[in-house]
Amino acid sequence: MGLGFLVFPELCPVCGRLLVKGERHICLGCLSDLPYSFFWNWRNNPAEFLLNELLPVEQAASLMLYRSESNWKSTVHQFKYYGNKGLGKFLSIMLAQKLLESGWSDKLDLVVPVPLHWYKEWTRGFNQAGVVAKVIAEKLNLPYEPYLITRKRFTFTQTKKDKEHRKKSVASAFTVKEKYSKLLSGKRVLLVDDVLTTGATASSCGKALLDFGALSISVVTLAFVE
Ligand SMILES: [Zn+2]
Repeated sequence: MGLGFLVFPELCPVCGRLLVKGERHICLGCLSDLPYSFFWNWRNNPAEFLLNELLPVEQAASLMLYRSESNWKSTVHQFKYYGNKGLGKFLSIMLAQKLLESGWSDKLDLVVPVPLHWYKEWTRGFNQAGVVAKVIAEKLNLPYEPYLITRKRFTFTQTKKDKEHRKKSVASAFTVKEKYSKLLSGKRVLLVDDVLTTGATASSCGKALLDFGALSISVVTLAFVE
């Protein structure tokens, strides 16, 4: 006999209250207080401002805007570290709807997640950015390319050529797999991650995409942490 008949009680990740019938993932009280960023309707919003300091981006948006001590932090935490993919997808669908309704997503060609280090993906079992990116690609009806960006393996050779190369690609921990460079050429790429905090990871990925021929980079995340 399977365990499918067992229903485990689910708690609201924001207030900790037991969810009741008709509530999914987040209680209705908290849901009505969701700290929307409204970045999709806001040019030069804080996410764009932050990223543009590091790398020029076409546009950037997040579903939620909160401080690091906010209870809303646990939504991303539950999704990322406790494997609550249902919650992650639920928030991703909300984000996709905002991007569609506002016309934010009109000028995009391709959806790409920020890759997780292979060891983390192996231990966690999934890449949280990939879960968000896949939902967004489906809702926006855009191609989804989960393996386009890869993390560089650092080698510490000290040849002159190597040093010059390193200077040119400063602080870029990511690269694009050779076989994707044709596909990427001239594309307006939507880069997806779970959270935007310093912008360092997103801009590093964005730089790799631009280096390999992408026309422009847009960035979306579930949360922007103030
Ligand atoms: Zn709640």
